[in-house]
Amino acid sequence: MSDSHLTLPIHAVAEQIVTGLATHGRIVLSAPTGSGKSTQVPQILIDAAQVQGDVVVLQPRRLAARLLAKRVAQERGCKLGEEVGYQIRFENVVGPNTRIRFVTEAILLRQILQDPTLKGVGAVVFDEFHERHLTSDLSISCALKSVQTVRPDLKIVVMSATLDVDLLEGYLQPCARVEASGRMYPVETRYLGAALNRDAAPVWSRAAAAFRAAVREGIEGDMLIFMPGAFEIRKTIEAVQAMPESRGYEVLPLHGELSPDAQDRAVSSGARRKVIVSTNVAETSITIEGVRVVIDGGQARIARYDARRGVNSILVEPISRASAEQRTGRAGRTGPGTCLRLWSEAEHAARAERDEAEVKRVDLSETLLLLAAAGISQPETFAWFELPEPKALARAHDLLLDLGALNAAGAITAMGRKMAGFPLHPRYARMLLEADRRGVLPEVALIAGLSQGRSFYRVSRDARVRKEQLRQVEDQADQRSDFFVQLQAWHLARAAKFNANACGALGIHGGSARQAGDTARQLLQLAQRQGLDTREAALPDEAERIAKCLLAGFSDHLAKRNDTGTRRCRMVHGRSGELRRESVVDAPLFVAAEIEEREVRREVTVLLGMATAVEFAWLEELFPDDFSDGNQTTYDPSLRRVVARSERRFRDLVLSSTDQGEPDLDRAAELLAAEVVAGRLNLKGWDAVVENWILRVNFVARHCPDAEVPEIDDEEARQLLVEQICHGALSYKEIKDRPVLATVKEWISPEQHYYIDTYAPAEMELPRRRNPARIRYEADGRAFIASKLQDFYDVPGSSLIVGNGKVQLLVELLAPNQRPAHLTDDLDGFWAGAYQHVRKDLAGRYPKHEWR
Ligand code: ADP
Ligand code: MG
Repeated sequence: MSDSHLTLPIHAVAEQIVTGLATHGRIVLSAPTGSGKSTQVPQILIDAAQVQGDVVVLQPRRLAARLLAKRVAQERGCKLGEEVGYQIRFENVVGPNTRIRFVTEAILLRQILQDPTLKGVGAVVFDEFHERHLTSDLSISCALKSVQTVRPDLKIVVMSATLDVDLLEGYLQPCARVEASGRMYPVETRYLGAALNRDAAPVWSRAAAAFRAAVREGIEGDMLIFMPGAFEIRKTIEAVQAMPESRGYEVLPLHGELSPDAQDRAVSSGARRKVIVSTNVAETSITIEGVRVVIDGGQARIARYDARRGVNSILVEPISRASAEQRTGRAGRTGPGTCLRLWSEAEHAARAERDEAEVKRVDLSETLLLLAAAGISQPETFAWFELPEPKALARAHDLLLDLGALNAAGAITAMGRKMAGFPLHPRYARMLLEADRRGVLPEVALIAGLSQGRSFYRVSRDARVRKEQLRQVEDQADQRSDFFVQLQAWHLARAAKFNANACGALGIHGGSARQAGDTARQLLQLAQRQGLDTREAALPDEAERIAKCLLAGFSDHLAKRNDTGTRRCRMVHGRSGELRRESVVDAPLFVAAEIEEREVRREVTVLLGMATAVEFAWLEELFPDDFSDGNQTTYDPSLRRVVARSERRFRDLVLSSTDQGEPDLDRAAELLAAEVVAGRLNLKGWDAVVENWILRVNFVARHCPDAEVPEIDDEEARQLLVEQICHGALSYKEIKDRPVLATVKEWISPEQHYYIDTYAPAEMELPRRRNPARIRYEADGRAFIASKLQDFYDVPGSSLIVGNGKVQLLVELLAPNQRPAHLTDDLDGFWAGAYQHVRKDLAGRYPKHEWR
C-alpha cells in the first residue's frame, strides 16, 4: 500500500508530460479521479529539467490543499512545510526550502495580481479546473498573460477528471494534450426517489434509510454519503448512528470546517468498516480508499448572486448530472460498487447536464475590485476565460461606484484599496471600514452576520402570542432600523443561551441566531487581521453611528417615500418600491438592505425590507460628491401636469424640489405628447376615424410615391402630431377633449388631400347598395371592401381598384348573416369558380335570398 503511488496510471504518461512541457510549455491533462494527478504531477514537474523554480498547485478547496500537501510530503519523506507545503486562508505552512506549494485559488490570484512575474515560480498547476470557480478562471487568464509578457518560461498545467478539453486547448494554444486512463470497476446505479418517499423526509433521514437498506442487503465495503454541508452531515451522522445497522461501522464526517485531525481521520484507513459523510470535496478532490457504496443526497452548496440582498449567497441546490456521475465513480475504485441516488430517474433527466461556471452566476463586484486594485480598470478588455454577462459587469461596476470604491473614471479610490484588502463582498467590507471609523465595529459585524444567514426573527401569526413577542422585542428596540429590532432579538437570544424553547417564545430561531453570532465573530477576526480596532466601545449616539454604516453599505438602496403616510417610495437608479408592512421604520428617507421583486397579478411589486432611517445631512456627510442641483421641467404623474421645479438630487433621486413658476410651453407640449404616445394619457378625440385617416395617408404614401405624401407611421411622427394638439397646455385636463382630426389632417397639404380622397377613398359606391361601402385600410398596405355577396352581382372586378389603379381591393363577400363567406382579390374568377360551392352551401341555408 505504501508504495502504491509508484505505480499509478499517471506514471504511464509522465514522459508525455515532460516532452509536452518542453515543446509547448503548456499542458491540458485529463485523467480519471484517483489516477494520480494531484499527488504525482507536482512531483513529476519538480524533477523535470524544464521547470525552473517552484511548483504551485491550485486547489479549489482548502481541505484538499492541506490533505494533498500532507500526502505528498509523506510520499517524499519530508515534514509539511519543508519541501512540500500549503497556503490557505489564515494558514501558511511553507518554509524557505518549500518547492511544492498547494494553495487555494484566492491566494494565487492575489499573488499574481500583485506580482505578475511570479518570482521563483517555475510552474503553475490548475487542479480540478472543471470546478470553474471565478478565482481559477481569473488566475488562468492572469497566468497566461504573464507567459505572453513577462514570463515566457513559466509552465502551465491544467488538469481535471472532467475537462472540456477542446475549449481549454483553444484558450491555451499552443498546448499539449495528455490523457491517462484509470482503473475503474463497474458501478450499479439505483434511483431511490420513489421508494424513499422523497417529500416526506429530510435528506439525512432518507440517506440513513438507504444506508440501512444497503447493510441489510449485505453490500460489502466502506460507504461514502454525499451531503451539501456541515449541518446536513451532522444530521446524517445522528440518523445513521441511531440505527442498529450502524454497529460495527465507524461513522465519520468530512468537510472544511472540521479540525485537521478530524479530516485526517476521515481519509485514513482503519481496521473498522467506515461510513464517511462528506461534502462534495470527496466528489473529485479527495480519494478515499476502499469505498464500495456511494449514497448520494444529490445536493451541493453553491454560490449565486442573491438579488434580494444584493450580495452572493450560498444556496443548497440539486447537483448536475455530470457531478452525479463523478460521485458514482467513487464507488468503483477498488472493486465493483453500488451507487444509491436519493432521487428518481425522472428527476435525474430533468437536472442540468453540467454546472454553470461561477462567472455566469455570481456577483462580480469583489472580482472587479480586485482587478481594479491591480490596475485593471477596464474589465471588459480583460482576457476572460469565459466572458461574464455585460449586465453583470455593469451592475458590479455601478455598485463599486456607489460604495465609493471606484471613481467616475473607473479607477480605484483610497477607500477601494482598503476594501480590496478584505476577502469579503465589498458591501460588507465598506460597512466594516465605516464601522471602524465610527467606533461601532462589533455591532456592525453582528448586523452583517445577521443579514448573511437565514432569517432568525419572525413573530407569530397568532395575535396574542405576537403581542407578547412584540412587547419584549420590538417595543424595547430603537425604532429607527429593522436591524435594531434584530439586534435586540439577538441579545435576548444570547441572554437565553440560544435555548430553542426560550427563543421560540420570542419569535427567534435560536440556532440561526447562534450562527449569526459565529459569522460576526469571523468577520471581527478578519477585521482584526486588517488592523481594525474590534474592541467594544460604549460611545454616545451609537444608533446613529450604526445607521451611518448601513447607509455606507447600502446607499445604492436609498429610498424616499412619495409622501408621508405612504409606503410607496422612489429609489436611486430610477427604481421604485414599497416598504414592507412589518418594518418599524417610519422615516421619510431610508436604506433597505433587502429588495425583493414579487409578481402579484402580473404586476411586479418591489418590496423593501430591513430598512434603516437615514437623514439628508448624513448623505451630505458621507457622499458629498453625489449631489446635483438643477432646474427641471417634468411631467408629474400624480398631478397629471407639467411643472417647472428646481431640484436637489442625490445621484438620480430627487430629494427636494420647489416650484419655479410657468414651464416653457414648447417643452410642456413635448412632455405631454410623450405621455400620450406612450399610452399613459388618452386623447378622447383620437378615435377610429383618426386612425383610419392615418391608415389612408400611409396607404397613399406607400403605393403612390409620386403624390409625395409623408407617412405617419413612426413614433416620431405621432409625437410631432400630438405636440401640435397639446401646444399651449400644461395639464391633461386641458388636452383630453381637444379636437384631433383637424390637426392630424394638417399633416399634409390641402393639395395632397385630393390624392388621399382619390387614391385611398374612404368608401366606394356599389350599384345594388343604397349607401356606399366603407373601404378598410390596413397597416400592412392591403385594402378591403366588405358587403353582402349579392351586392357584388354585376360589379366588374376591374372596378374594385384603388391606389391610382395599382391596388386590387380584397373583396369580403358576406353571407346574409353578415359573416364573411369568402375572401378574394379576383372577383371575376370567383364567379367562374369557387362561387358554385359557396352558392350551394348558402342557398341551402338561406333559400329566400336571391342566388344567381
Ligand atoms: P487524482 O488527483 O488523479 O484524483 P490523486 O493524486 O489524488 O489522484 O491520488 C492518486 C492515488 O494516490 C489515489 O488513488 C490513492 O490511491 C492515493 N492517495 C492519494 N491521497 C492519499 C491519501 N491521503 N492516503 C492514501 N492514499 C492516497
Ligand atoms: Mg486530484
